[in-house]
Amino acid sequence: MLVNQILSLKGPGGSGIVTIQSTATVEEAAKLLAEKRIGAVVVSDDGKKPVGILSERDIVRELSKQGAAVLSGPISGLMTRNVSTCSTGEDTLAVLERMTEGRFRHLPVVDEAGNMLGIVSIGDAVSARLKELNDEKEALTGMIMGS
Ligand code: AMP
Repeated sequence: MLVNQILSLKGPGGSGIVTIQSTATVEEAAKLLAEKRIGAVVVSDDGKKPVGILSERDIVRELSKQGAAVLSGPISGLMTRNVSTCSTGEDTLAVLERMTEGRFRHLPVVDEAGNMLGIVSIGDAVSARLKELNDEKEALTGMIMGS
C-alpha cells in the first residue's frame, strides 16, 4: 500500500495536519497535543512547510531535566529541527523502516515542493500493513480454494 492510500484510509480528515508556530510555548503545545489526542505536532510558521516536529517525548524529557519552568518557554528550544518526511509514492514497509531506523513514530508527508500533504503515524502504518497482510491471506486462500 502506498502513502497516499494510507492517507485516504484515515478518512476525509486524513490530509489534515495539526501544526503549531515555532513561537508557541511548551504549555500551548502540550494543550494542543491533549486536545487533539495526538503524540506529536508539526512545527510550521506558514502551515505548509515543516520547520520542526515536537513530540510528547520531547516535552517529557525537558520536564524531567528543567522542571515546570520549561512550560513557559518556546517550543523552538525543544523541537527536532531535522524533520524526516516521506512522499505519497512510498510504500508501507519503507515508512515502517524509516520509523524504526529513526526511532520516531510520526512522518509528515510532503510534495515535491516540500509542502505538507498529511502525516502518517506508526499506528496508521501498522494498520495499513495489517490490512495488506489480511488482503494477501484472503487472496491466497481464494486461490487454494479455487474461488
Ligand atoms: P515520536 O516517537 O514520533 O513521538 O518522536 C520521538 C523523537 O523523534 C522526538 O524527539 C521527536 O521530536 C522526533 N521525531 C518525531 N518525528 C520525527 C520526524 N518525522 N523526523 C525527525 N524527528 C522526529
